[in-house]
Amino acid sequence: MSSFLPPGSTLGILGGGQLGRYMAIAAQQRGYRVVVLDPEPDGPAQQVAHQAIMAPYDDPEALERLASLCQVVTFEFENVPASSLEPFARHGVAIRPGPQVLAICQDRIAEKTLIGSCGIETALWHSIRGVSDLAPALADLGGAGILKTARSGYDGKGQARVGSLSAARQAFVNFGEVDCVLEGIVPFALECSVLAARDVHGRCATYPVCENAHSRHILDVTVCPARVGEAAARTMRGHTVRLAEELEYVGHMAVEFFVLPDGGVLVNEIAPRPHNSGHLTLDAAANSQFEQHVRCVLGWPVAPFEQTAPAAAMTNLLGDGWTAGEPRWESLTEFPEVRLHLYGKAQARPGRKMGHLTAMAQSVEHAESLVREARRALFG
Ligand code: AMP
Repeated sequence: MSSFLPPGSTLGILGGGQLGRYMAIAAQQRGYRVVVLDPEPDGPAQQVAHQAIMAPYDDPEALERLASLCQVVTFEFENVPASSLEPFARHGVAIRPGPQVLAICQDRIAEKTLIGSCGIETALWHSIRGVSDLAPALADLGGAGILKTARSGYDGKGQARVGSLSAARQAFVNFGEVDCVLEGIVPFALECSVLAARDVHGRCATYPVCENAHSRHILDVTVCPARVGEAAARTMRGHTVRLAEELEYVGHMAVEFFVLPDGGVLVNEIAPRPHNSGHLTLDAAANSQFEQHVRCVLGWPVAPFEQTAPAAAMTNLLGDGWTAGEPRWESLTEFPEVRLHLYGKAQARPGRKMGHLTAMAQSVEHAESLVREARRALFG
């Protein structure tokens, strides 16, 4: 089969959240059909897709049905079981990015091993496959670390900071004694991410480095370009291209970095999909991360990926802002420079990503203050 899929072809998406929604819109704008599979009814992507299949990600009949409907399949998060991709391979459906990406990026041990094999640094880490691995690992890390489950963690879930062997043991038991990694605590100055898109011909484009501030382990504010030196920015973009090549990646991905006080950089993790920090590309890029993802996945060449404003900022709108009722939407009329995105989620819950705000400005400080002030006005 040719790697290029013409308009009129059908894109299958595993996952029906906001990432899937923006992928679907980007594909539809180019004349493609979109079918989404998600266990939940009425998710952000199902609301815009041509067709939705409501079933768990490991439902053989549902996967078979999706595979019979689409010519290419992609996923919007990395915790889809690897076995779910088998029906697509059997039907000759293109899987982009490929199954090897999912296998590596859904397992922190495999991912960190791959990063290390490229000569790229991460935090010091040890794999923990049983209780007896904890004591030597913790001793090597100086008595403190972060225990993370090897699989199924996101937004700080499946993570525990531990400062003693008894705390490490307790955390390991709390996680059900599944495979974990124990990482050294990184005294980072900044957290950053690099967005990259790589096409079927191996051409890769990266976006200027984003700077990310988290709150309670969830991304709070992204600004771009990051306030880092040129050498650190070049290194992060170079590492990202190297990892995309090593993974033979097709589509959009993001690499999260820790920047150390001396300007050194460590990879935190790879997100094999569009990324929350890339939401500002919807308004501040020649082509958004979602356009880049569907272009590459559908066999089009990667497009220019530069920022179209000197500075941009994005802040998440979490469900916490809905606890006292609907946010004060009208207050946003005082902020004509700020753009509102909502994902169509009916129920707001604390920590749930309901939407985001973006702003472009002449400086990152100005862009950041615009989105922060607008959010304050909205949530009171
Ligand atoms: P992760 O799910 O691995 O991206 O971790 C979520 C957040 O926890 C990161 O964005 C950091 O703010 C923090 N974090 C994770 N790992 C470490 C580490 N080894 N040292 C310090 N902070 C960390």
